[in-house]
Amino acid sequence: MIPESFIEELLSRVDIVDVIERYVPLKKAGANYQACCPFHSEKTPSFTVSPTKQFYHCFGCGAHGSAIGFLMQYSGLGFVEAVEALAAQLGLAVPHQTSARAQEKARQQPLTERLARAARFYKDELKRSPKAIDYLKGRGLTGEIAAKYGLGYAPDDWQALAGVFADYADPAMVECGLVIENEQGRRYDRFRDRIMFPIQDARGNVIGFGGRVLGQGEPKYLNSPETPLFKKGEELYGLPQARAAIRSEGRVIVVEGYMDVVALAQFGIGNAVATLGTATTPTHVRKLLRLADQVVFCFDGDAAGRKAAWRALEASLEALSDGKLVGFLFLPPEHDPDSFVRAEGAEAFQRLAAQPTTLAEFFLRELKAGVDLSSAEGRARLVHEAKPLLTKLAAPLLRLQLTRALAEAAQVSPAELEALCGLKPLPRGRAAPPKSRPLPKPAALERTLLLTVLHRPERAARLPLELIPTESAEGAALAALVEAIEAGRLPTGNFGLLLEYFRGSAHEEVIAGLAGELEGSHSDEGEEETVFQDAIERLKARSLERRIEALIAQERAGTLTAGQRRQLAELIALKKRLLERV
Ligand SMILES: [Zn+2]
Repeated sequence: MIPESFIEELLSRVDIVDVIERYVPLKKAGANYQACCPFHSEKTPSFTVSPTKQFYHCFGCGAHGSAIGFLMQYSGLGFVEAVEALAAQLGLAVPHQTSARAQEKARQQPLTERLARAARFYKDELKRSPKAIDYLKGRGLTGEIAAKYGLGYAPDDWQALAGVFADYADPAMVECGLVIENEQGRRYDRFRDRIMFPIQDARGNVIGFGGRVLGQGEPKYLNSPETPLFKKGEELYGLPQARAAIRSEGRVIVVEGYMDVVALAQFGIGNAVATLGTATTPTHVRKLLRLADQVVFCFDGDAAGRKAAWRALEASLEALSDGKLVGFLFLPPEHDPDSFVRAEGAEAFQRLAAQPTTLAEFFLRELKAGVDLSSAEGRARLVHEAKPLLTKLAAPLLRLQLTRALAEAAQVSPAELEALCGLKPLPRGRAAPPKSRPLPKPAALERTLLLTVLHRPERAARLPLELIPTESAEGAALAALVEAIEAGRLPTGNFGLLLEYFRGSAHEEVIAGLAGELEGSHSDEGEEETVFQDAIERLKARSLERRIEALIAQERAGTLTAGQRRQLAELIALKKRLLERV
């Protein structure tokens, strides 16, 4: 965990204008800066960055946040990764990183540099190879798309890279996957006479390569091996290039090969990424759901495609949360995305992608297809096969929906089905969907609120007293403080008096401790206000969560009225909006 004090230090030292300007060209407009919003498509700029508040806001789509929030939203980085990226820009070391992790990073750096150099070499070689250029042209690719994806060519030479790396014999060349050593200890380039597709991580670093033969050779596709940098089960091809399109479409399309990604991009479908010769993992799905509310897996219509789709479904079950949508697009058996978009055009592809088979439909269809529902035995088998899948499912509403439909098919009641599957009522917390950003621990939230209210006691008026949980010392102190201020018992504006008021009370220690912290900090007013508002939103989200849980419990007991069901859907939507805002 990264201590909050470090986050605060980071945000006080970083300038959000510098951070955003690396990605989005900003224009000065009065005290602020403006740009066309990177998170929705627009012609006139409504994206504003305030250097005094260290805050960005879009009047068009409502996107807003701090420098950390920007990196998360723009680059799809997780919270910790975004903090690390920012800290690296400032040359700060992130505390509480395990030393093992820091060592691993230091070890990886030289490998990353090697791969970047190799990518440049392959790219230059492409310009020198008429054969490779003709091949790409023959597949309908323009120079623009080739440049966007950094395509290259590995020459037909056993040791071409020896001309680039003077230390070709260095073990790192094997470690980063560029070079293979045979049993006699002789070394040669892994990729020869292939079109090269650099595989990048979310930050755009090259972490591996995919190579495709130009003609008929085998294997048709060759990937870098698993290396300290390249974990196939975590990475997606084409993510940095697809990011803007994923944002503006609100949807990401997952295909099976890098050629599919590039071909779709050539036809103006820029929101596609590919898994890398491996089945879809929950890590993949989590990454994708951070970037978009809708994930559409596109597979060939043949048996292998359906099998791959089923594995993607299994991976999605544990990563999916309510309010997100996972769908499946099956192409006609004779097509892959590359050939389909060539034959039928972009519009036909987009139409299919907009109306995929939903996860629930696919789930039920596949399960029912495998059994004979007219016999009791078949129905028992249905339950048996559904069991491990339902237990994985993290989204409570989707689980209810699937349980009902399965119960109907199995001719049992939903309660019986749950009992048969050994499903426990969803306990609080355990099956909670992964949040796009870790919410602070309860006491941390109360602590933040307490700090900000202590700094500006007039804020107490904006804090809904009934929402403050009083289990923690901080929460109890906060409630006492707000109560005192509201009752007019506390002179606001004088910090010393405030401290005196609590002397000898149960809250003295907590408040005095925080007061000391306030003395030492020089937090920016605007930023602090943001932090305060942020914390209120989180408090509301938490209270919403409790109401949602109560309604879901009622739903399970079968006592939910139609009105309450509507309310539940509204609450879930509301919570989602709240979480997006914070
Ligand atoms: Zn916007």
